[in-house]
Amino acid sequence: MSYIKGYKCTLCGAEFKEGEVSLTCPHCGEKGILDVVYDYDALKKVLTREYFEKNRNYSMWRYAPIMGIQEDHIDEMLRVGWTPLYRARRLEKELGVKELYVKDDGLNPSGSSKDRASGVAVLKAIEAGAKTIACSSTGNAASSCACQAAHMGLNAVIFVPKRAPIGKATQICLYGATLVKVDGDYKAAFQLSKAAIDKYGWYNRNAAINPFMVEGKKTVSMEIAEQLNFEPTDWVAVSVGDGCTVGGVYKGFAEFFKLGLIKKVPKILGVQSTGCAPFVIASETGEPLKEADENTIADSIAVGIPRNPVKAQNAIKLSHGAWISVPDSDIIKAMSLLGRTEGIFGEPAGVAAIAGIKKAVQQGIIKPGETVTTIVTGNGLKDPVNGQKAVSMPEPMKPNLEELDKFLKEKGAI
Ligand SMILES: *Cc1c(COP(=O)(O)O)cnc(C)c1O
Ligand SMILES: [Zn+2]
Repeated sequence: MSYIKGYKCTLCGAEFKEGEVSLTCPHCGEKGILDVVYDYDALKKVLTREYFEKNRNYSMWRYAPIMGIQEDHIDEMLRVGWTPLYRARRLEKELGVKELYVKDDGLNPSGSSKDRASGVAVLKAIEAGAKTIACSSTGNAASSCACQAAHMGLNAVIFVPKRAPIGKATQICLYGATLVKVDGDYKAAFQLSKAAIDKYGWYNRNAAINPFMVEGKKTVSMEIAEQLNFEPTDWVAVSVGDGCTVGGVYKGFAEFFKLGLIKKVPKILGVQSTGCAPFVIASETGEPLKEADENTIADSIAVGIPRNPVKAQNAIKLSHGAWISVPDSDIIKAMSLLGRTEGIFGEPAGVAAIAGIKKAVQQGIIKPGETVTTIVTGNGLKDPVNGQKAVSMPEPMKPNLEELDKFLKEKGAI
């Protein structure tokens, strides 16, 4: 059964019932992104501690009643979510954090958090009777959409900017989708996808426009809450591009709070690269969001015009969190730091939040006694070209013990 009560426009606040709207608010147009609202009183009786303790579906589909999806096909879907949450004992010392947890969302089917949204998108496309799903993305939404669509036998048409890393572009082709590589930036890819979706009537997975993407993304917080025995950390740090992910992170906790499952909503640290930091600049200047350059190696968060600004800004504001930006040099350091201390390889956007935590501790935003969770949103193997910037690759050596001895001494390995 559906527990959806209706939709609320994040811009003008207008409310709509199921069936009254398609994707965005009719009064506000494309910018009027909707929020899915549930009948929380009814859900409170269903989604109890006991429900979760007995639920043996270890994937994000365990939250189906509060995801706004029909449940007929969830058993056929790829396993998305229920990614591991590790206590990061070595990394927390390096960052000066009392207690740090790492949620490794790079272990999703296509290697990023985007699978949470794409899984829902594919189910909604099937519900709508669509044969083709389309999206534009800097790379991960694209590759995950292609992945999830392939598993359910849907066609996918995917628009990426030409700078999309080769690993992600390869994934898209390998999953059998039609890859449209746009000679331009993300903005150009987004605009073309929008025009094409209007023209051909495909199902639209664009993260900003489709309100159900946040319904998938929010499950990461519900998992964190469960994995910490319903006592989430004081802070949750996550990188921000369009703002859909951070909007979801907030909503997941806020809904668990509404359902009486957790006692507090963590403060959210929204992290951007200084090379592309529209949200951070807006919060520092107090001015409306302005278009920013897309000048960072963290391609997944190189979003000059964020498409989901209201949900993102509300997430930080309502959680009493903070915005912070970090230079690419710190992001590169965070990649090797996470790999070296915890054995986890994150892509640049996947580890930006770790660099953000370090800076937030230094600036006194995160206080000495506070606990933190960070979400590694994407797998480092997606972008080994940038990964190489975080390491020093040895030259080949002659295969003899003398050479080896010299080399090992140089490296301090013996
Ligand atoms: C998409 C993405 C983000 C940011 O998500 P937004 O919804 O665009 O803010 C962060 N990290 C990775 C790896 C991503 O793919
Ligand atoms: Zn509106």
